[in-house]
Amino acid sequence: MSLEDHAEDLASDLGVDKEEVKRDLENLVNYSVPMDEAKQSLRRKYGGGGSSGGDGTPSSKAISEVTTGDSNVTVTAVVLTSGRRSIQYNGEQHVIREGELADETGKISYTAWDGFSGDLEPGQTVRLGNAGVREWDGQPELNLGDSTRPEVVDETLAIDYEVGGRASLADLEPGDRGITVEVQVLECEQKVIDGRDGETTILSGVLGDDTGRLPFTDWEPHDEIEVGASIRIAESFVREFRGAPSVNVSEFSAVTALDRTVDVAEDAPRLSVREAVDSGGLFDVELAGNVIEVRDGSGLIERCPECGRVIQNGQCRSHGTVEGEDDLRTKAILDDGTATVTVVLDDELTAAVYGGDIDDAREHARDAMDKEVVAERIADRIVGREYVVRGSLSVDEYGANLTASTFAEADDDPATRATTFLREAEV
Ligand SMILES: [Zn+2]
Repeated sequence: MSLEDHAEDLASDLGVDKEEVKRDLENLVNYSVPMDEAKQSLRRKYGGGGSSGGDGTPSSKAISEVTTGDSNVTVTAVVLTSGRRSIQYNGEQHVIREGELADETGKISYTAWDGFSGDLEPGQTVRLGNAGVREWDGQPELNLGDSTRPEVVDETLAIDYEVGGRASLADLEPGDRGITVEVQVLECEQKVIDGRDGETTILSGVLGDDTGRLPFTDWEPHDEIEVGASIRIAESFVREFRGAPSVNVSEFSAVTALDRTVDVAEDAPRLSVREAVDSGGLFDVELAGNVIEVRDGSGLIERCPECGRVIQNGQCRSHGTVEGEDDLRTKAILDDGTATVTVVLDDELTAAVYGGDIDDAREHARDAMDKEVVAERIADRIVGREYVVRGSLSVDEYGANLTASTFAEADDDPATRATTFLREAEV
């Protein structure tokens, strides 16, 4: 085939101008790119749609063999999960399907655009002819569009994965889609946000099951979601929120009340500070260690009345000169020998370690004519002691911060601790 013929094939395949394709093809070939590779590269450039025409259907591949270098493949796989999501592009609303497919060799994520004609019911075995491949987060992902030919096939594949997306909260990871969870609603509040169609009301709060707790957002409030309710949420997806997974409920999610109470784990998982920090963020975790320092910005502080940020000398970074509002806060550095984390105590926990409320702190500061005495007393009381802290850990460019929900002095006696330590040292 001449270059002209190749260009013609490719142009009709991709539905783009032949002269443009020919120019690109000539260019690549002039740079000694082999014809096959040049065509692949142009398929990627022009979106990879279209059937392969003269070259026939793209070759069938096992899922483990699909790489980000492929432009189009044909796979036969079982639909593991399928979740709808409404997104906006080119100024229009589109409903896409997302989920995972598996065969005997592995699993892969997919996105099905609105031109895709298949159903993708979890449990179905499907052959997807001419599925596009794109790179997402360094991994190959199947892109199913109007040029993909779906076909339900009567074949049983021995896959290693569970069908249907039923998951425990502890197993969820950002990026999971089409997930079903059975949970108890622990906290729930309405919020008004500026959505793409103006002001909208959403729900946000905390869900729990016997493996842990996670925050959630319901973008299309469901009546069944209320504090204390035990519910099943089908077709949810998982996003990252402050470094930890967050369950997202959409207009496509089915929320049903359960006729049983979902048990919620009492305790948060206890990790070393190093493990916790390395995880990148945890919504609910327990850490134990020694307080080695109380940081600046602790004790009796002032916040901006507009944004709540801590201010210095009556100056807010966003709102200029403001009348600050007094508050109590403690930022304590906790060290367990593996790493350190900054534990942030709110007004109540700070009042407990300080041994007085905000009025006591004001009076204390006035008598001493120095605000710092409040932070100094807190430091006197907690530095050098061992604490067990539970809360939400976020890890970002500002470091590792644990917003504490409980902060208790470790009460196990030194003898037990010494044996535990020895046992750990032996491992
Ligand atoms: Zn402000």
